[in-house]
Order: sequence, then C-alpha cells, then structure tokens
Amino acid sequence: MRTSPRSPSDLGTGLGKEPLSQPRRVGSSSYISNSTPPRSGGLSHRPSPSPREDPESPAGSHTSSGPVSEIGSEIVVQSGDMELDGPGLEDSDMGSSTTSLHAEYTGAPPAPSTTSSHLQTGHRSLESPLSHVSDQSELSSIPPSVSSKATTPVDSEAIRELVIPRPRNLSPASPPASPQPTPRRAFDIKPRSSIPAGMDDVTYATQCLRAAEHSRLDPYSLHEGEYRLLRQHITQAQVTTYLQIRNGILRLWYSNVRRPVTREAAVGCAAHARWFDMASVCFDWLLRHAYINYGCVEFPPAPTISTENPCNRKRKTIVVIGAGMAGLGCARQMDALAKQYSDQLAERGELPPKIVVLEGRRRIGGRVYSREFQTKPETPLPGYDGQRHTAEMGGMIITGFERGNPVNVLVRGQLGLPFRVLKSDTTLYDSNGRPVEPLRDDRVEKLYNDCLDRVSEFKFKTQPSKLIRGNLQLIQTGREITSDGTRTISEQEEALAALPHAPSVSEQNVPERVNRVPVSSDKLTGRVHTEPGTPATSKASTRASQFGWTLKNSVHEDSTVDLSQAASNPDATLGSVLDDAIVQYRSLVDLAALDHRLLNWHIANLEYSNATNLYKLSLGGWDIDAGYEWDGKHTMVVGGYQAVPRGLAECPTPLDLKTKSPVRNIKYATGDSPAPCIVECEDGTAVEADIVVSTIPLGVLKQGSVGFDPPLPEWKQGAIERIGFGVLNKVILVYKEPFWDTSRHIFGVLRDAPNKHSLIQSEYASRRGRFFQWFNVSKMTGLPCLVALMAGNAGFDTEHESNDSLIEEATVLLRKIFGRSVPYPVEAVVTRWASDRFARGSYSSSGPGMHIDDYDAMARPVGNLYFAGEHTCGTHPATVHGAYLSGLRAASEVWDALLGPIDVPTPLKRPKESRPNMTSKMWRAAGPEERKPYEDKAGQLKTEHARLQEEFEEKLAKWDEECAILRAQYEKEHSLTSDSLSQTPDKGRRGGGSSSPHKNKHRKTSRPIDYAESSDDPDL
Ligand SMILES: Cc1cc2nc3c(=O)[nH]c(=O)nc-3n(C[C@H](O)[C@H](O)[C@H](O)COP(=O)(O)OP(=O)(O)OC[C@H]3O[C@@H](n4cnc5c(N)ncnc54)[C@H](O)[C@@H]3O)c2cc1C
Repeated sequence: MRTSPRSPSDLGTGLGKEPLSQPRRVGSSSYISNSTPPRSGGLSHRPSPSPREDPESPAGSHTSSGPVSEIGSEIVVQSGDMELDGPGLEDSDMGSSTTSLHAEYTGAPPAPSTTSSHLQTGHRSLESPLSHVSDQSELSSIPPSVSSKATTPVDSEAIRELVIPRPRNLSPASPPASPQPTPRRAFDIKPRSSIPAGMDDVTYATQCLRAAEHSRLDPYSLHEGEYRLLRQHITQAQVTTYLQIRNGILRLWYSNVRRPVTREAAVGCAAHARWFDMASVCFDWLLRHAYINYGCVEFPPAPTISTENPCNRKRKTIVVIGAGMAGLGCARQMDALAKQYSDQLAERGELPPKIVVLEGRRRIGGRVYSREFQTKPETPLPGYDGQRHTAEMGGMIITGFERGNPVNVLVRGQLGLPFRVLKSDTTLYDSNGRPVEPLRDDRVEKLYNDCLDRVSEFKFKTQPSKLIRGNLQLIQTGREITSDGTRTISEQEEALAALPHAPSVSEQNVPERVNRVPVSSDKLTGRVHTEPGTPATSKASTRASQFGWTLKNSVHEDSTVDLSQAASNPDATLGSVLDDAIVQYRSLVDLAALDHRLLNWHIANLEYSNATNLYKLSLGGWDIDAGYEWDGKHTMVVGGYQAVPRGLAECPTPLDLKTKSPVRNIKYATGDSPAPCIVECEDGTAVEADIVVSTIPLGVLKQGSVGFDPPLPEWKQGAIERIGFGVLNKVILVYKEPFWDTSRHIFGVLRDAPNKHSLIQSEYASRRGRFFQWFNVSKMTGLPCLVALMAGNAGFDTEHESNDSLIEEATVLLRKIFGRSVPYPVEAVVTRWASDRFARGSYSSSGPGMHIDDYDAMARPVGNLYFAGEHTCGTHPATVHGAYLSGLRAASEVWDALLGPIDVPTPLKRPKESRPNMTSKMWRAAGPEERKPYEDKAGQLKTEHARLQEEFEEKLAKWDEECAILRAQYEKEHSLTSDSLSQTPDKGRRGGGSSSPHKNKHRKTSRPIDYAESSDDPDL
C-alpha cells in the first residue's frame, strides 16, 4: 500500500498542482505530512494515514500518528517520492508517453528548443573554461617525471573482452563485418599538423602523457584491446610510435572536451605520413571505446554523404531500457557514434539507427535522484542563487575527478556544474554524545585495518593481463624510434613460444600478479584503500604492540591471529571471518565496550560502501574493484547530481526518451537468428528493435518482475543470483538553523549493542549502521541540512520503520551530541530504496557465493540483448561513474555489432611513396646481367641489416632486463621497511610484494590514496 502520495514535487522542481507543494520558507509556519512506510513483501510496518488522504486534517497541518509525538506539526516528512510498492502507483500515468524533460521537471509545456534551467546551465557551461577538466590548468606544467601510474583497468577488462562473444544475430541483410577490406583512406593533411608548431618535444610529450593518464589508459602500454587489434600489424618497436600518436590524440581531446576530435586532427598527430593509417586506426579504437568524443559533445552538422534516396536506406532501431546513468550514457554515446560513423553506415546502405530510451519512472536519473525540498531558505546563501535545493536520495559523492573518472569530463569539462569539495576531517561521537579521544580511535582503526589485512589473504587471485610497453624514455621525451623492427608482436610471441621450455603466447608479457592489502578506510565513502603488498606478514601480537595496545600478561610475543579455520568454512563470509579475527584479537589485548563500538563503527562504514551486511559479502571478492579508484578529492555537485543525467539526456540535443514506460517483457534472439527484439511495456505497447540494451538494476532482475524470452541462460542467471544487491538508506533532515560545526562535512556516531556493555562482537551487528555517519550538506543544498546514513542491517530496517520513529531516534541522538535545544527538523526525507519498484535496493556488492568473473558475465550480451548498469562494471561497481562506464562499454559493443570490427589496413605502415625518376627508368631499361651485381650487393646488405637488427634487439632486451633488475634492487634497498612503515600514522605496513622488477614499475606505490585529507580547501 502506498500511503505517501506522490507530490508534484516528485517531478523535480517542487512546482506542482497541490497546495502542499508550495515552497516552505525556513522559519515560516509549516505543516506535517507523515508518510507511512510502504508495505513490501513480508515486511511489517505501522500504517498511518497519509495527510493528503485524510479529509479531516486541515490543509498543511497533519498530525503524525505514532507513539512519539513530540514531532510536531512543523515538520514535513517525505518518504521520498520513490516508486514504492503497493497500489500507490495509481496516481501515475502508466501509459507510454513521450515526455519532454522540460515538461517533466517544470510541469510546463516544452518550449521548442530550450531546455530546463539546469540544462541551460549545461549549455551555458559550455562556455566555461576548459581548465576545469583538470586541476592543472596548464598541461605543460607537468614535469616529464609525471607519474605513469597505469589507470587502465587492465586485468578484468581484459578478461571480459576476451570472453565477450561477438554478436551474430543482426539482420542477415546487413552482416556485422564488412566483407571487403576497406580501402586506405586518403588524408589531405600534413604530418604533425596537430602538434603545436614551436612546442618543444618534451613539453608536448608531457602533455600527451598527462592526457593519457586522465583517460584511464596507461601512457606507456597498450590496452589489452589495442594489443589484440594491433598484434599482427605492428612490431614491438612500433608500439612506441603508436603510443605517441595515441597519447597525442588524447591530448587533443583533453584540450577541449566539448568539441570532438576529428579523424583528420587525429591523423595529424602522426609525425610522418607513413603512420597516417596507424593514427586513423588508433582514432577508431579510441572513439569506439569512448576514450575520446564521449559525453555531451557538440558535433558539427553531418555532411551529406550520399545522393541515394535516404528513404530506400534501412534504419535499425536500438532500444535502451532505463534512463539512469548507464542507459543515458549508452544512448548518448550511440547517438554520438551514429553521427561520427554516418558515412560508413551510408556506405552500407543504412541510415543512422533510431535510438529510443524507455524509462519506467516519471523522471530520469534512476538512482541519481536530487529531490527538490519543499523548504526554501528565507535568504539565499551567498553564491547559491539559481541552484535548486535538493536532497540527494541516491548517488551523491563524486569519488575523485583525477586519473580517468569520466564524470570529470561531464561535470567539469562539459556541463560546467558547480561542485564543492568534501572534507573528511571528522569527529566520532560515542553513544553518550561525547567525542571519542582521537588516540583511542586511531589505535582501534589500526587494529581494524590489520584484521582486514589478514582477511585479505583469502581474496580471489586475479590474473593480470598482457602488458606490452613502449619505450619509456622516447615516450617521455617525444623522440622518435630509430628502427621499426622486423617482426610483428604476434610473430615475435609465436617465435618465442616455439622454443623449447618457452612460455606460451598467452603467458608472455604478463606482469607478475600484484596483491593488494587494505591500508586505511575512507570516511566519506566507506571504501577501503588498498596498496600493493603481502597480507598479514607480521604476528598479530607484534602489530598490536606497534599500534599502542598493551598485550595481555599471558600472551607470548609470537602469538598471532590465524583465520584459516574460519576461512575454510564453506559458508564463510567477510563478516564471519572478520568477527573471528576480532574475537582472536580479544585473546591478545583487552577490548572494552568502547573499542567494540569503535570497531563496529568502521565495520558499519564498510557496510555503507557495500550497501549490505558484512555477513552477505564474499570473503574472496568483497573488494574485487580494489586498485581502480580515481585520485583526487571527493566532491558533490551543488544543486543536485541529477543535473548530470539531465545533461546527458538533453545536451547537445534531446534524446528520444519515453518516461512512464515500465517494461515487463523482453523478447530477444540468440544465435544466428535474425529475429528482432520485442520490448513489451506494462501498458501493453510494444516496441520492435534490432538491438536492446538493458540497464535494468540488478535488484529488479533478481526479483524477476521483467520477463525474458527466451529465459536468460544459466550463466547469466547464475551471476544475477550470486552478485549481491543490498540497501543503503538515508534520513535527510532540514533545519531552520544549523546547530552543528558548519566547517565540517561529516561526523560519526558510535552505536551501542542492544546490551550496552556487550563484549560479544556479533551483538553489534544489528545496530551499528543506524545513523552512524552524518553529512553536513548545507553548502551543497543551500539549506541547513544533515544527511544520516542507515547502513548494514539498519538499511534494511529503514524500509519498514515509521518516519516518526526514525526522526525521533535521530533527534535523541543529535541532542546527546549538540545539547537538549536541538529542534525537530522542519523537513525530513526518508529513502526506502528496497521498496522502490524500479531499483529494489541501492547497489550491488560481492555476494557470498560470487564467482570471480560474475560481473563480467553480467556485462556479456546474449544474442541481440546487451547489458549495462553499475552491476555490470566489475572495476567500478556500485557507483555513478561505474554505471556510466558500463553504458559506454555497451555502446561500444553495439557499435561493433553494427559496423563489425575496426578495419586495419595491411600493411599498417604505409609504404614510402615512390616517384618514377630517371634512375628508375634506367634501372627498368637495364638487362638482367647489368643488374645482377647490384642485386647481389643489395641482398648482402639486407642480410647484414637484418642480422644487425636482430643483434640490436637482443641487446636491447638484455639491457631492459638488466635495467629492471637494477631498478628492483634499488627499490629494495631504498624502500621503507615494514616496521618503519608501521610507525607511520595512518599508512599501516606496506612494502611487501615489491620484489618484482616489473611490478608497478610506473605506479605510485608509496602514497596511499588520501582524499581531501589535508585540505582546508577552498570549496573550489
Ligand atoms: C542511497 C544510495 C547512495 C549512493 N551513493 C553513491 C555515491 O555517493 N557515489 C556514487 O558514485 N554512487 C552512489 N550510489 C550508486 C549509484 O547511484 C548507482 O550505482 C548508479 O546511479 C546506478 O546507475 P544505473 O544506470 O546502473 O542504474 P539506475 O540509476 O537505477 O538506472 C536504471 C533505470 O532503469 C529504470 N528501470 C528499472 N526497471 C525498469 C523497467 N522495468 N522498465 C523501464 N525502466 C526500468 C529505473 O527506473 C532507472 O531509471 C548510491 C546509490 C544509492 C541508492
């Protein structure tokens, strides 16, 4: 039963038809609107009348029915206008309708070509400075020693790409791959035309390196996809040339992310005409895989390609289900690809495909939902004019802009949205409201990290992918290779594999596997930071002493924590083994109830980042995405994160988007069958499509409310079942005035076990996540506003607890900390994501029985049905950027299906142009006898050249090897020892596993990723 009727403010702006939606000024007399929690499968809840259903209630003044009634008539309580269970949907128009976003958000009819104010912001922003994309406004300001940390998610992406079968079931009339090799393109440009004249090589190379690092690619190595594309076409030496061109193209993109890089401009990054084809292939690869020209890019009008009557040309239809970040990202990317490949489509007799997005809700953004507050400030905060006042119901934090986060390009580079840096300085308050002594907190946190470190011994072991590297020095200095080499990479690999006892092709060029161990936790996101190292190298007793704990009298200095038995239990989870670690630690040191509260606060933080209880997390895979974090400070968009999906939907031109179109069945085709897909909506309408991309959230897939015909194969269904999908909820409170320290962005609260003084670890699980973390988001919302997190069990409990009791609990807790004068909020919003029929939870996590490749299986297409969504992105699951990346990946797969693989001209290096001259004429006129001595001499020289070349390559390989050994030796001699590191506050012990000469050679290994810690930062 839906008892919280949707208000018009559901539509995003708070403008609507009902009187309740009138903006409430902070401080003005107000009203209460109590919404009863939804009824959802088996969850009990306390019904209470909805004010809008209660004819007895005076307008704008409804009294909450609940045991606690100090909550007075001044509070607006919303349960979030989510698509909750129950018959409440009757107030939504379930008919399929094409809705202009303008109308959707403002309730006004769409203006012909304008967009909503946010989108105007987006357009306006297209004028803002490009330097926003990077903290470094001058690319050239980066020294040549710029870190070469590989940001390419090489490992699992590689695995995924290798297993994705190429879709085969498009219409036979238009086979996916072009049967004819594409003739070489002619380029009417000069070599180096895209390299700034007068810029010295090192400056140019440095800018290129930095651009590659911003593009989630390793500037010094081929991505696995590039390797597969090029291995039969280029030599090892030419890898350097390719990377120089590729990094140069990325530099062009990063110098203006609002304009597309054209093929000609990309080809102009080649230093010689003989590399034009290589540059063109590189352009295709970057374009198709969304390393360039993605997001809200303005394209010039497409030239008229063909005189053929377009009416005779075929037009495919692609349906994207879901208008969240994944769906909108995918549709926008396909729209961009359609514009850029219109000529190739025309050559195939096709019009650009029709791309339709079907969204079940009345709004877009999915789990990025910035819900307009009804409260408005009496006087706008300085610098807040014109922004909306919104509650971030779902995705909220951008976890670092640097080193490849594609949201950077959208937010800063293209939409120019205002944002603020989040500071992680925090105070932890004990359950009695008193601040916890920092030293105590530090000691417990170290013990907690050590427990996680020991648990990480049982993590899945992933296989690194190939690492084909170019010449580091040449890439850094922008110098050219002196010799091309003779054998292609594949010839070289195969030749080596043919030798006795040599590694097979797949084993060659594979770097050593790098373990990652937890070093610290991020207070803002709950994520555990990891670094390369070896788990649990020191005895627990030694570690405890180092952390400042006093060992119990009976404890021997060799005593340690042994988790092998707990881990060998077939039902072992992260929670069960971590509990065992804490229990074992208790036999070494005295843990008081306060220590347990602290430990469990950290555990709640981890439950927050996984949106589930620790006992529902895989022991092997709980941090499967470790090592893929972005760098940089965490931020929040001012006025609402939803401006990003809106930008994607509208900029530069509106997508074909139908809201209020919940899909109930997807008929798709497998094998070579040409049958089209049929997407059936709940209102009975059906859309026929050649390709469907489903971004339906995992929670909805698990519930089975959307049918698939034929049923999804077992490998897909298995992954759906095994990957976890839990709940994180929020209680968002708006006040008349702040009573908290407004200079801080977060504070934490420790929670008691039901038995207040309990020393039993498992007893803390039920309550530790209740209001455990608070965000002060006043500057981002323009109102005095706190957001409390409900994580772990508390997340699930929120689904069936009354708003009154939640607000009461929050108020009691805040009064303990800030004093008895803390008032009730003037407005409150409670999320219930598990009851939301279009989400069924918050985000994915590694379920207990998860297989290492389950995220990849989620991503893999089945016939002409493709998949995207955060749950399909193993490198960045559970995030907004992961959802976006998954949409880009799906777009790329669809494009491969439409156009076939990228054509690589053979030979890739263009032969030198030869012009007939007098000498060649005379040569042709000469007889065989006259030519013979010259030919013999040429033969000898060729043989000698080949011999020298081989000798040189052998020497080069040897030097490289010696250099690597020397470097490893140097690193070993100059690295910090584990003991010295352990004394470094907050950094924990590191340094294990650095023995390999190859491992992380170009990664920053010494600095833990440390978001916004030191910042007294400017909110930018
Ligand atoms: C409480 C909470 C806090 C979060 N905090 C953060 C954070 O701070 N930072 C961060 O990076 N990420 C955060 N996330 C995660 C992030 O919001 C998600 O990972 C991301 O938004 C998911 O995007 P998506 O496109 O995969 O799915 P969605 O956004 O859910 O999009 C799927 C779309 O499909 C639609 N749909 C579903 N079923 C149907 C159907 N049958 N027919 C038609 N349409 C359908 C849905 O309505 C939805 O619009 C948070 C999420 C939650 C819930």
